[in-house]
Order: sequence, then C-alpha cells, then structure tokens
Amino acid sequence: MTVSSTNSGANKFVLAIHGGLAGPRASLSADCEREVRAALRKSLQSGAAVLRVNSTGSVEAVLAAVKVMEDCPHFNAGKGSVYTRAGTIEMDAAVMEGAERRAGAVAHVKRIRNPVLAAHTVMTQSSAVFLVGDEADQFAEQRGLEMVDPSYFATERRWNDLQAWKSRQASQVSGQAATGSVEISRGTVGAVALDRAGNLAAATSTGGLSFKIPGRVGDSGVIGAGTCAENRTCAVSATGDGELFIRSSAAYSVSARLMYCGKSLGEAAQEAVDDIGTLGGVGGLIAIDRCGNVAMPYHALGMFRGTIYECGDPSVALYET
Ligand code: ASP
Repeated sequence: MTVSSTNSGANKFVLAIHGGLAGPRASLSADCEREVRAALRKSLQSGAAVLRVNSTGSVEAVLAAVKVMEDCPHFNAGKGSVYTRAGTIEMDAAVMEGAERRAGAVAHVKRIRNPVLAAHTVMTQSSAVFLVGDEADQFAEQRGLEMVDPSYFATERRWNDLQAWKSRQASQVSGQAATGSVEISRGTVGAVALDRAGNLAAATSTGGLSFKIPGRVGDSGVIGAGTCAENRTCAVSATGDGELFIRSSAAYSVSARLMYCGKSLGEAAQEAVDDIGTLGGVGGLIAIDRCGNVAMPYHALGMFRGTIYECGDPSVALYET
C-alpha cells in the first residue's frame, strides 16, 4: 500500500507521523480506535504548534510529536511498551537532523520516561551518537530528564499478551495443540518534519518487538536503519521487523535512492519497503523529502499514520480505507 502526497508550496512546513503497523481490524475496539485517532491528532497538533512558531523547529517538532505517542498507552513506545520474554521492558529511540546530520540514540533503556528526549540529549549534550543500557539511563538522569520506576511503562494489555505467548510456548513444548492467537503488538512511533527553513528531521521510539530476547536492539535506535535525515534528500522513520531494517539499511536506502538513483520519494520509499518484503518480513515507513513531498508505504494490514501541512488540518488514517 502506498500513500503519497505532494506539498503545494515552498517554505511551508510539513509533519508526518506513524504509530506503527496495524494488527487485524477486528482486534481494535471502537473505543480504542477513537483513542488512537485522538492521540495521532494530538501528536500532529503538538508538532505543528512548534513548526508554526519556529521556522527552524523540525527537530523540536518531531520530539514533541513522538513524546505525545510515548505518553499514550496505546502505542508500543514509552508507556505501553511491549514486554521481553523475560517480563522486562526495554526501549530504543533515535533522533536525527538533516542540516549537519547530527544524531542521537539510546537503546535498552528502562527508566527514562521519554526515551526520545534522551536520544536528543545524547545528540546535543554528548560527543556520542549511541548510548545503551544502564549507562544510557544514568546519562539521562544526570542531565535532568524525567526518570520513572519501570512499572510506569507497564500495561495490563501487554502483560496479558506476554502470558498468552508463554502459555502458547509451553503447550508447543509439551506437544499439545496451541489454541487462540497471540497478538504481536507493534505500535512503534515516529515522526518526520520539514520546517520553513528547509530543515528535515526524523525521530523514532519503540519498546521493540513483542517477546523479544532480553538485550535485543531493533532498528528504531539505529541511525540509517529505522531513522535517518539529510537535508539534501529526505527524512525517514520506519516500523516493522527491525532486524530486516538493519540488514537493509532501510531508512538510509531511501535517502540513497534519491541522491544516487534520481528516484522520486514515492519510488524510493516503496522500494525500501518492498525490500523488507523480499527479505521475508513486514514493514512500513514515513518519509518527507526536501520539497515537502510525503510518502507512507507499508506492507501490512494498515499503518497508524497522519500528516499535517501548514495550511491544513491534521489528517489521520489507520487502515487502507
Ligand atoms: N521496528 C521495531 C523493532 O524492531 C518494531 C516495530 O516497529 O514494530 O524494534
């Protein structure tokens, strides 16, 4: 499924967001769908509020948009993140700006309320690009970011998913027929923005894949895999099977297709997602190019997503129709 749109004017801001790949429509209650749509709109409005007053605010805008989704338990990022198979919650996040290609990322963090803000702090207050584990938590704490007990991120829904997965594993080991399906929660969040000065930025945040091995790091925090921004080409934030996004340098590959192959954003983004399919996985991404064109291809039932243009209202969608 490809969703592309064209920006109608130069020097106008554009913001696009995603809230991860959608599961089957039937698994989303009407109440839940309403809340997800409201959260996506709030995320777009928070980012757009920054872009309205700050013509160089693309980085702050993607942070604001992602923070709203990290705080919403319906997404797999921040509060509401999925569990590892050991019952822990381990989060990854990254941010990149396109002017100087500065970037910051954290992985395997457990106590930072908003991992995307920690990624930004790594970018702006350290000489590193990527900090992981307890040291990343400590770095954020020392820089004054809001820290929480790991129980803050817990939700009953994700806990129940883990219990269902465990009993399914146990029945497979004992040779019994497993009943029912286990929801693989996705719901990674991300944002890409173009500000009025022509600066692109991207940010992504996730709890990772459901029931992952403790210590596993996905693509979201890996610059060039799940997150990428470069003013000469585009900004990209991805979601889906992280290992495949890492193996195909997916986010960077969109930028490279623009830079070296002369592809349009729509073609480049679709090819990167098709490549994930070729490798046997599912995925989607959102991208904005330097002219403000937007592409949001995905290979799945749907992808929670939204856009807002300087002269328009927030527009959100979950499935194809
Ligand atoms: N890409 C994320 C990861 O592999 C998961 C997702 O987007 O659903 O950690």
